[in-house]
This record gives sequence, structure tokens and C-alpha cells, in this order.
Amino acid sequence: MINIIILGPPGAGKGTQARLIQDKFGYTQVSTGELVRHEIASGSTLGKYLQPIVESGGYLEDTIMLELLENKLKEIDSGAIIDGFPRTENQADALYEMLKRNHQQLDLVIDLKVDKDILAKRIAGRFSCVNCGAIYNQYFSPPADEGKCDYCKKTEFVKRKDDALEVVNKRLEIYTEKTQPLLDYYEKSGQLSHVDGMQSVDDVASQIEVLITKYLKKPQMCVN
Ligand SMILES: [Zn+2]
Repeated sequence: MINIIILGPPGAGKGTQARLIQDKFGYTQVSTGELVRHEIASGSTLGKYLQPIVESGGYLEDTIMLELLENKLKEIDSGAIIDGFPRTENQADALYEMLKRNHQQLDLVIDLKVDKDILAKRIAGRFSCVNCGAIYNQYFSPPADEGKCDYCKKTEFVKRKDDALEVVNKRLEIYTEKTQPLLDYYEKSGQLSHVDGMQSVDDVASQIEVLITKYLKKPQMCVN
């Protein structure tokens, strides 16, 4: 059993990479947000307790998140890519203890490193052709003819509202501020691996693959 965490800001491609690892290695993506939603949908006593808290945007106790996570991990025997937990150092400590209780450990923490300015432009610059769905970026890959779709030659485009550059920048800033202590935590424990998240999806995926493969080989190398 291998437990992996991928850290990276919104838009860095965490979800995509988690799915690729899942397909490649047969591991299971475990999102604590989904576990909570699933528990509520099941109508269990715990679900009934959680529902009003979640609906009011309240804070779920670490012990509950951890219990849900622990139960889920017990169902998995190959590997888990844990998403949404931990977010704080206290949660990281609690996760450590929980895994240890189950004779497991956190094996890999992967930090998708991004250039915030470029990532913000990648996200905020996105727009697409209303007619054919072709995707452009105003900073990196605009239509050859300004205002005219390369493929269908139509001139109507659409852009997501919450993708304004300053909104995206703010989102990334908040993420960095909140996550830095966690990165420091795992850097100190020696579990952190950095991957350049600004490369293509395929290149990021193959780097992560190398990290996992190396990790899987490690115990045998020690024995020899
Ligand atoms: Zn078009």
C-alpha cells in the first residue's frame, strides 16, 4: 500500500495528474470532500450530523475527516492518492498518527511547483470560440487573426467570469500563504518531492511516474 499526496495551487493540474496516476498504477483517488458528500448521501447517523455543518459552510472537525479517511483507506490495498487533507500542520500530524496506527505511512508528497505569474495568465487568459469550442489564450495562443477563430472564422468568444486576472492572482496568493507551512513540514520530514508543474501534462505525468517507480523500488535496493 502506497499513500501519495499531491500539493499544488488551483489550476496546476492536480486533478488531471491524480487521474493519470490512477489509470497508470491502479491506485484510488481519495478526496475527503467526496467522502463527506458520500457520507451525507448515505443517510447514516454521521451523515445526518455532517449535513447541516457542510450546508452552512461550517468547519468539520479533524477527527471526523480522519475517521472517514481511515475507513476509506482500509478498503484500498494498492495505493491511494489523497486529496483535500491535510491542510494544516496539525492535520499532517494527525494523518501521520492515523497511518501509523494502521501500519502505513505517507509515502510521497509531490509538490507541483508553478510560476504564479504564468499560471495566472494561463488560467485568466483562457477563452473559447462560441461556435466550435476552440480554446485560445490571450497571452500565449491568441487566434492568428485577432478576434477571428482560426478554425471556423467566427468572431464570437466566451470567457469564464471568475477567471479575471486579479481574481486568479488572489486565489493563488491565498493558496501559497495557506500551504507554505505544510510544504515546510514535509520538506523537513524529507517526504517532499518537487515537480515542475509548468511543463506539459505528459511531462509532469512522466516525472511523477518516475518518482513513484523509484519509490516502489526503494525497499529492494535497501535489501541488496
Ligand atoms: Zn471557432
